[in-house]
Amino acid sequence: MIENCITSEFESNIKNNYLQVCSNVSKAAKAAGRDPNEITIIAVSKTWPIEIIKPLLEMNHIDFGENRIQEAIEKWVPLKKNFSASKLHIIGSLQTNKVRDAVNIADTIHSLDREKLVKAVSQEIKCCERRPQCFIQVNTGEEYQKAGVLPEDLDSLIEISLEKYDIPLEGLMCLPPYNDDPAPHFALLKKFAERHSLKKLSMGMSADYMTAIEFGATHIRVGSAIFGNRKQNKINKKM
Ligand SMILES: *Cc1c(COP(=O)(O)O)cnc(C)c1O
Repeated sequence: MIENCITSEFESNIKNNYLQVCSNVSKAAKAAGRDPNEITIIAVSKTWPIEIIKPLLEMNHIDFGENRIQEAIEKWVPLKKNFSASKLHIIGSLQTNKVRDAVNIADTIHSLDREKLVKAVSQEIKCCERRPQCFIQVNTGEEYQKAGVLPEDLDSLIEISLEKYDIPLEGLMCLPPYNDDPAPHFALLKKFAERHSLKKLSMGMSADYMTAIEFGATHIRVGSAIFGNRKQNKINKKM
């Protein structure tokens, strides 16, 4: 009983949070003179269990993001059976030994960042006959430990992705340094995308998605503003 109460309170919070994000997206889009329908809200459900995700699916929300392949499979193989219109975005850094699973389950992969990975994804696309949309992740802050291709190596990675590996490349993704003003990073990503005629920009998270929209984001990745603080959820407590 107690658990049910917690769940229903949680559920209405999540729904309200979600509606708030949708309304903020509309506002930010209009302020930037953009059509809100060209912005995909990716609800980042990493660490949250299926019961927490379902209310959003029942509201017909389509796009969800996960950063770990194993967790994505455990949750989204069953969820996609019941919600076949849903789309899964892999937003975390990807190891080549997880590429087969990633291509099989993902509708979009946001984190291509090196030739070895691009090659592995291209091989899987050929043999498993699924063609997830792809983004190249750019390390715009040139952070030593962070995933993403360095700006100086981006042009050649885009070129081989398209010409040598026939990757369905749609756009670029970035994750600005934690303590930086994100705006210059968003502007830089947009500039890179325009230079290569790539139309999609995956940028902006809970703290800065309105700014990202101002700078042209087409895909925003929003976790805690919808689901709440990940430190408080059950899966994290177990770890
Ligand atoms: C976790 C994560 C997000 C969502 O972060 P929030 O601040 O909770 O919105 C977005 N993008 C990536 C790559 C992530 O790993």
